[in-house]
Amino acid sequence: MTEITYNYIITGGGTAGCVLANRLSADPSVTVLLLEAGGSDRHPFFHWPAGFAKMTKGIGSWGWSTVPQKQLKNRILRYTQAKVIGGGSSINAQIYTRGVPADYDAWVRDAGAHGWSYRDVLPYFKRAENNQRYANEYHGYGGPLGVSNPISPLPICEAFFQAGQELGIPFNPDFNGANQDGLGYYQLTQSNARRSSTSVAYLNPIRDRRNLTVRLRTQALRVVVEHGRATGVEIASASSAPPQLVRAAREVIVTSGAMGSPKLLMQSGIGPAGHLRSVGVKVVHDLPGVGGNLQDHLDLFVIAECTGDHTYDKYNQPHRAAWAGLQYLLWKKGPVASSLFETGGFWYAEKGTRSPDIQFHLGLGSGIEAGVAKMSNPGVTLNSAYLRPRSRGTVRLASADPTVAPLIDPDYWAEPRDRELAIEGLRMAREIMRQPALKRFVLAERLPGDALNTDAELFDFACAHAKTDHHPVGTCRIGPVDDATSVVTPDLRVIGLEGLRVADASVMPFIPSCNTNAPTIMVAEKAADHILGRLT
Ligand SMILES: Cc1cc2nc3c(=O)[nH]c(=O)nc-3n(C[C@H](O)[C@H](O)[C@H](O)COP(=O)(O)OP(=O)(O)OC[C@H]3O[C@@H](n4cnc5c(N)ncnc54)[C@H](O)[C@@H]3O)c2cc1C
Repeated sequence: MTEITYNYIITGGGTAGCVLANRLSADPSVTVLLLEAGGSDRHPFFHWPAGFAKMTKGIGSWGWSTVPQKQLKNRILRYTQAKVIGGGSSINAQIYTRGVPADYDAWVRDAGAHGWSYRDVLPYFKRAENNQRYANEYHGYGGPLGVSNPISPLPICEAFFQAGQELGIPFNPDFNGANQDGLGYYQLTQSNARRSSTSVAYLNPIRDRRNLTVRLRTQALRVVVEHGRATGVEIASASSAPPQLVRAAREVIVTSGAMGSPKLLMQSGIGPAGHLRSVGVKVVHDLPGVGGNLQDHLDLFVIAECTGDHTYDKYNQPHRAAWAGLQYLLWKKGPVASSLFETGGFWYAEKGTRSPDIQFHLGLGSGIEAGVAKMSNPGVTLNSAYLRPRSRGTVRLASADPTVAPLIDPDYWAEPRDRELAIEGLRMAREIMRQPALKRFVLAERLPGDALNTDAELFDFACAHAKTDHHPVGTCRIGPVDDATSVVTPDLRVIGLEGLRVADASVMPFIPSCNTNAPTIMVAEKAADHILGRLT
């Protein structure tokens, strides 16, 4: 094997990896290698906001599924995870949410993630941000990440807010400000009517740095550990047939995502020893927490048929799609400028809980995501997700072969309380859709459908239709060194090894009460300061 040495090797050019590539290579005296298993994001679908409609249907993803979900009648769920530069930030619905202070304060209080309280992390959310509207205690501008207001909301969105108010749910102009409660428009990771992925926001502006090497279509097969220290990474790329060894003089930083990071560690012999042996991986470092503690949000949804062309479903017809394309190219407006999920909010399934525990996403159409029913007439979708599940799942290796998909088991609803509150959230979504303010727009609920009402009926519906909200976290969690479930210390070093950190969604000890892209960017921003010695 030929060997090249870099100061830092980053194993995954996803949401977090691109942030770190930027921050670490800002010092011209250090060399950085960013590895990404997927390809480029050149295709316009990665940049047009409405390109999201293609994203769960195969573009830029690994094509993984869960193992049969025991509490969902053994259904296997499609599990889209990004495989493209920019990772999830290149294929997600661009919804920009951060959760609430209590989420991060619980990381400290209940998980021992010292230094990750809301007060500690808020400056990193702000550092990342180039907010179009807000500049206050919670928001900043001038950072790399475009955060913008929706460009093309439809009248049905306003009626949705009124429907909420008819039910006592207020309008909220900023879910990331003083208060998360209510319905409103999401801010979006967009800039000038284009997606602001971390590839676009953090990587593109610095592509000409001579100390940064970006290798696409290159998979990290194994982190090489010698005498208790990570010294390099074995990689395979389409362009060089035999695996190659690249050396890290300072650190290897694992940023392969909540599935990919534990998978890579386990392929490298770092993980629960018994499991590693069972699949024929030589144990390098017994670390039982790797691949445990998997948490995700599970989406249920209501789909209604509209009284007319009130959503973007009408653009399925070729002549209308052509017009939409033209509108976008000429004026940066119209359906193509919409991520299709720009409206939603947060409310309570459990009375008296510390902050909203249900999140809504209003989909301006039907069948937007893979596996979600498409109406023959224009439809509208309202997703509801329970935000603080107690169920914990795992990511495990199916084989020692790095090219084989991992065994993904979120074990949804292992805790019955998660099911009860999720079904309560679904009932709330139905109630919103039935309010007088939406009568002009909504003809009738088609899914679950008026005939299904009991808990048992809604459970059956959920087993047939529930889908991931694409928010896996927790599989390399931050925690105290003496806790067997911890994988990294609060400064993100892999416990028991030198020269190795994890810095992506997998380190979050608890899933935040929101979408997970902005929190992952925050993690990566803070990780950079830990690596550069700016934080102790
Ligand atoms: C379809 C979808 C919709 C979503 N919608 C939203 C949303 O609207 N708002 C929001 O906030 N969040 C959303 N999310 C979640 C959010 O995008 C993720 O939480 C975030 O991207 C996680 O970032 P990450 O860096 O941990 O992992 P990723 O962004 O997944 O990055 C990991 C990267 O590592 C690469 N990789 C993996 N293994 C290897 C290896 N061995 N070698 C080299 N490279 C490797 C992968 O190809 C990938 O590019 C969505 C996610 C998906 C998938």
